[in-house]
Amino acid sequence: MMKYRDEFAREDLAEAFSRIIKDIGLTENINLMEVCGTHTHSIAKYGIRDMLPPNIRLLSGPGCPVCVTPNLFIDQLTVLAEMPGVIITTFGDMVRVPGSFSSLQETKGRGADVRICYSPDDAVRIAEENPDKKVVFAGVGFETTAPGVAAAIIDAGEKNLSNFFVLAGFKTLPNALRALAQMPDLNLNGLICPGHLSVVTGTSIYREMAEVFKIPCVISGFEALDILETIRLLLLQISEGRAEVENGYSRVVRDEGNPKAMAILGEVFRETDSVWRGIGNISSSGLVLNEKYSRFDALNLINVNIPAPVEPSFCICGQILTGVKTPADCPGFGKACTPDNPAGACMVSSEGACAAWYRFGRNIE
Ligand code: SF4
Repeated sequence: MMKYRDEFAREDLAEAFSRIIKDIGLTENINLMEVCGTHTHSIAKYGIRDMLPPNIRLLSGPGCPVCVTPNLFIDQLTVLAEMPGVIITTFGDMVRVPGSFSSLQETKGRGADVRICYSPDDAVRIAEENPDKKVVFAGVGFETTAPGVAAAIIDAGEKNLSNFFVLAGFKTLPNALRALAQMPDLNLNGLICPGHLSVVTGTSIYREMAEVFKIPCVISGFEALDILETIRLLLLQISEGRAEVENGYSRVVRDEGNPKAMAILGEVFRETDSVWRGIGNISSSGLVLNEKYSRFDALNLINVNIPAPVEPSFCICGQILTGVKTPADCPGFGKACTPDNPAGACMVSSEGACAAWYRFGRNIE
């Protein structure tokens, strides 16, 4: 039994897995999608595409939080950043994401107070230290990160902070999966399901994909062997005509998830329709502050009309996030768009498909 991280990255075992996958013998074209930016990065880093037969395609999905956050959210953040007396606090990647008119980094260059923090608790601390300022935390991510932000909001409430706010752009996965399954051109044959997110949600959120849409689902860890084993399990399901939810990451993910984390989400947030870059508006796929905690909502601070968001004309990030196109299809890739000078969100985060392609080249389709 493999217990340690190094064992999940052993090259000899990876080669053995690769042979086992080939021996399953599927000859038709198979599209497997990884629904997690960390998987996108790991697949590129470990060269997993090169280990697979050419008929097995790995598609990147909408699992990179920075990538799926639409330009409107960035535009709202930059408007807030330019307001007098406002401090923006955010995870590092968000600073470089280009909005319609500016990135936070550019806004900071013009004098705005934009600070990178490593947890939402840092933002609460900054609010305590700066009682004469309004401190806004940029809340992006999935069920994985939202509970930590919910806990910070509760903490701010218990401390009676009136200068802490969250701009909530959280996404939730189940309805986005349904939207993907219903996309006519995608032809998904299997899902590599996100391990971190499943730690919180549990395994039941994938049941609809397997039972209704007949798409095999396997929850996966992030090392090379985790992903290869997941691919093997998916191909076995396909070859045997099964569509089930399997937990390939049972050393971390429990079927019931983390009920405490889900409860704290329910305490602070309510579901709302949400716009995903590349997919558009999906009903009940986002989280915003509920009535009890609405005083912490940073949208309350915005009192100007924000122009309709615009995207760079050549950026096909949205189609990459739905597996329809690859970074190679973008005319700006590596030219007008690089990690040092990103034109689109998928080139910013290490979890973005374009950034992974740029860094690891041949290992991304
Ligand atoms: S390379 Fe840049 S411009 Fe092209 S799709 Fe990716 S993020 Fe968008």
